Parts: sequence; C-alpha cells; structure tokens
Amino acid sequence: MLSSTITRSLWCVLVLALIASGPALPAEMSGVLKTRTVVLIVSDGLRWQEIFTGADPELLNEKNGGIWETERELRREFWRTDPAERRQALFPFLWGTVAARGQIFGNQTQGSIARVTNGLAFSYPGYNEMLTGHPDARINSNEFGPNPNLTVFEWLNGLPELHGHVAVYATWGAFKDIFNVGRSHLPVQAGWDPPYRGTTSAREELLNRLYQSTTPLEDGDVYNAFLQVPLLDSLPAQQARVLFVGYGETDLWGHVGRYDQLLHSAHLFDHFVAELWNAMQALPAYSDRTTFIITADHGRGSGPVEWKEHGVKQKGSENIWIAVLGPDTPPLGERMHTAPVTQAQIAATVAALLGKDYRQAVPEAAAPIADVLR
Ligand SMILES: [Zn+2]
Repeated sequence: MLSSTITRSLWCVLVLALIASGPALPAEMSGVLKTRTVVLIVSDGLRWQEIFTGADPELLNEKNGGIWETERELRREFWRTDPAERRQALFPFLWGTVAARGQIFGNQTQGSIARVTNGLAFSYPGYNEMLTGHPDARINSNEFGPNPNLTVFEWLNGLPELHGHVAVYATWGAFKDIFNVGRSHLPVQAGWDPPYRGTTSAREELLNRLYQSTTPLEDGDVYNAFLQVPLLDSLPAQQARVLFVGYGETDLWGHVGRYDQLLHSAHLFDHFVAELWNAMQALPAYSDRTTFIITADHGRGSGPVEWKEHGVKQKGSENIWIAVLGPDTPPLGERMHTAPVTQAQIAATVAALLGKDYRQAVPEAAAPIADVLR
C-alpha cells in the first residue's frame, strides 16, 4: 500500500517534470512532421448544410431561393436524390480528395460539431477568432478597424525561419485591418487594390485594368476569380510557408438572396481550392509538404428565409465545418461522433502543423485539433 503510494507519487513528479521541462508536444514533433507550408482557406459564410448535403431542395426555386435560372437547369447541375452524390456534385474536390484523403468535421447529422465561440457569427469576430485563437468581445463590428490582437500569421512571420514567407490573399478589403498591416507588415493582397505594381506584363496590366474597371457586387469585396490570378502567380517565386486565402463570394450571394449564384460560387470555390492544390503539388517546394485547412468564418440561418443572413438572430449561424488535408493528417475522412471542435482551435493548429507552439506566445489561444496531427 505504502510502496504503491510512493510509486504513484514518483510517477506524478515525473509527469509534472516532463510537462514543465520544455515546449509542448507540437514543437517536439517538428522533427517528424512533413508539412512545410500551411494554407488556411476560407469561403465566407458557406454553410455546413451545403458542404454535407449539397444543394438544398427547399431553395432550388424562385420563391425561396430567388433563382433567375430555371429550376430544371439548376437541378441538372446540382440535384441528385442521394445526399452523398449531391454534395459530390457541388464539391467534387472537397469530397473526392480532401475528405477522401484528409478529414472533415461539422456534419451535425452524424454527431460532429464545429462551431464559432465568439457569440456573434459574423465575419470580423470569426476571422479574429480563427486567426488569434480566441474570441474578443471588443470586436463586435466588421468596421472595427485595426485588430489589437496578435494573429498566428503575424507571430509565425516573426520567427526567423518563417520571416518573409507569410502572405495573405483575400477578396475582402477588411483583411488589411484584420491582419493589422500597419503593425504586422504582412504582405496583404485584399479587396479591389490592383495586384501588380512596378513594371507589369501585358497580362498583368489587363488584370489591373479589370480590378479598376469592374462594377463590384460589393464595394469591399473583389471577385474570387480575380484574386485567384495573383495568388497562383505568386507561388513559384514566393516559397510561401504560411498562406491565408479568403474567398468572399459565397457570403455575398447569400445576402443578395440568389441561391443559384450561391451554388455556382460554392462550386467554383471548390474548383479554386483544387486548382491551388494541384498548382502547389506541381512545384517541388510544396509537393507532398503542404497542408490545407479549409473552413468558413460563420454559418447562416436555415429554412426558406433565414438562409440569406447570419448572426445572433439567425439560429444555427454559429455552426461551421473544418476540413484538413496534408501529409501529417491521418485520413479519417468524414468525422462522425467526435468531440466538438471550434474555430478558435484553428490558429494553434496552423502553428502545430509547422511544429510550433502558438500557445507559448498566446496562452489564451485554444488547443490545436489533435486529431488532424499525426
Ligand atoms: Zn455576411
């Protein structure tokens, strides 16, 4: 009895000593991790309902979905009776590659919950939560201005081996504030700022002209297709180690109330992610050493009206989805009956995939999602 108590005490001391002696697990794992580049990709306000069950039959019409196309055309492209086939038709890369070879959380019908914890479920509070690792009650407006909090991107850019290899490409101009460019000095291509400077080729000049001469759907938010060009162009020279890619259209078309356009932009978002993945796999600097984390900043309401909006008034807007694909993520596929995961865990997960412990710098940040790390 006595000896077992002593053994137990010694064991406790040993465990405590191990915990206190050095960096947490992720830093120690850096030697075995294959990931060299992490890309965090967001499709703004894209609901988990579409991700897991495809096109919503209640919204494939003019009355609820505000569609301009004929229902028949839209159904030909996106409707399948079986939900698994339906989501595959809408998101072929997400289901054919990401979920098949990685993991995806958030199918509430299968007991998997991914959610925001900021209590507001709109964009700036959500991006702040995923990028800093914790919600901040002060950030209660999309026009909040420069972010007072340190993002995991700014922190990683401050580490000698990653400095200068962190970049942000986003359709929404507010990312200049969310990443606090005045303080962080991160390179941020965002909004309608023409992407090419200095001496430009004819092709670059053409895209700059389109940035300056296209009528916006929304003032602060450039089209996903426009952003994709400088993003792909940057890959060979940049040797990016940490990339943020923010696509905005899925949220805009929701607010406009056009479910046909929302489906088209969601389908194209999937295409852009596939294009980025394939472009990176074709370059030796990134091939087999790149991890994608793909998510949404918030959900939306449901039913015939509330799908258009999101926030505290639209029930369920806190629900999101999180997918991960890369060489260090076990291929567990669509996760079912898991413990809930949160948006706040994304920041430390980005760092952990690079062998870094973000919570040493920001103790209030949520822990990494352990299941996506081998
Ligand atoms: Zn919105």
